[in-house]
Amino acid sequence: MQGKMRALVKTERAPGLTLQEVDIPSVGPNDALVKVAATSICGTDYHIYSWDEWSQGRINPPLIAGHEFAGEVVEIGDNVDIVKTGDMVSAETHIVCHTCPQCRIGELHTCINTSIIGVDVDGCFAEYVSIPAYNLWVNDPDLDPAVASAQEPLGNAVHTALAGPVAAQRIAVTGAGPIGLMSIPVLKKTGAQLVIVTEVNEFRLNLARELGADIAINPAEEDPVAAAMEATDGLGVDGVLEMSGNPQAINQGLKMLRPGGRMSVLGVPSGREVTVDMANDIVFAGVKMEGIAGRKMWETWYQTAGLLAAGLDIEPIITHRMPLEDFEKGMDLMASGDCGKVVLIP
Ligand code: NAD
Ligand code: ZN
Repeated sequence: MQGKMRALVKTERAPGLTLQEVDIPSVGPNDALVKVAATSICGTDYHIYSWDEWSQGRINPPLIAGHEFAGEVVEIGDNVDIVKTGDMVSAETHIVCHTCPQCRIGELHTCINTSIIGVDVDGCFAEYVSIPAYNLWVNDPDLDPAVASAQEPLGNAVHTALAGPVAAQRIAVTGAGPIGLMSIPVLKKTGAQLVIVTEVNEFRLNLARELGADIAINPAEEDPVAAAMEATDGLGVDGVLEMSGNPQAINQGLKMLRPGGRMSVLGVPSGREVTVDMANDIVFAGVKMEGIAGRKMWETWYQTAGLLAAGLDIEPIITHRMPLEDFEKGMDLMASGDCGKVVLIP
């Protein structure tokens, strides 16, 4: 499609994003062009916007930011047969190589050549985005585009929650950012007996309560390990979903866990290295600790869509919707933490 579109571009190696008129991206033989109906802001986008140390090492301007989106397919490349124009789609944001050993053994979510839209290639904070058609997931056309966009982080929550048993289990979630918040209805829907949430931000703590957390604790005010022990007859929870990346929360999560429990770790510590009591909290406790990368392709997407079809409601987590032009307001909200998911409408 010829023409111009509005996009949020990282134009230089400095903080901020610039709203610009740019060419509508071209569509390769294996790509699809999607008219973006909704795009949501992720923590990664805030890192790129604020130009933190990670983004300075990873981002090569000029780059259109953004990776979470939903929209309508408006053009397809010659080789594309898995989507058609008119389909309402969301996207798996990890573009994988299909040829490395990880891809060949079916573990595409840990492809060693992964590139990410809005990080390594142009993203979706724009009116249109071009993406390999393989990465698209066709949605129920009645699904709210904001919810459809948030299916990508919801997939992180589903992948983490369903990495171990949930039904009849007592589970703690450390960190109620957007993904930790999403894990609450996922855990409830899949039959958890008890959901304990820790979070330092009061807005998010209240949202966690509204979403059905049985116990919601601010670790700055109350000892979450003692509370979890009290709620589990002194034994500890069966599982922990680590969704904060905070070293203190990681240690509290380990100490809340019963012997033999599972800890599924999605959170990314900004300092990379974290000290834990390996001997007592992992080895002798017989704990199963697993890192969670992205979403399984495509198992997690089927599970996520299935949960939505079964009535999973993440609408309350979408706390803000605004036009693309107001992205700075959205980024300020992300910085404050007084939000769930912030959605931009191009
Ligand atoms: P987020 O950073 O908004 O959420 C983290 C939350 O943890 C925040 O609400 C913060 O207030 C809270 N927190 C901070 N210190 C805490 C403490 N001591 N105790 C309890 N809570 C505390 O991010 P998000 O988008 O919800 O993502 C959650 C985590 O998952 C982040 O670390 C993110 O980088 C990571 N992530 C990982 C993957 C992956 O593939 N592994 C994908 C997406 C996001
Ligand atoms: Zn690969």
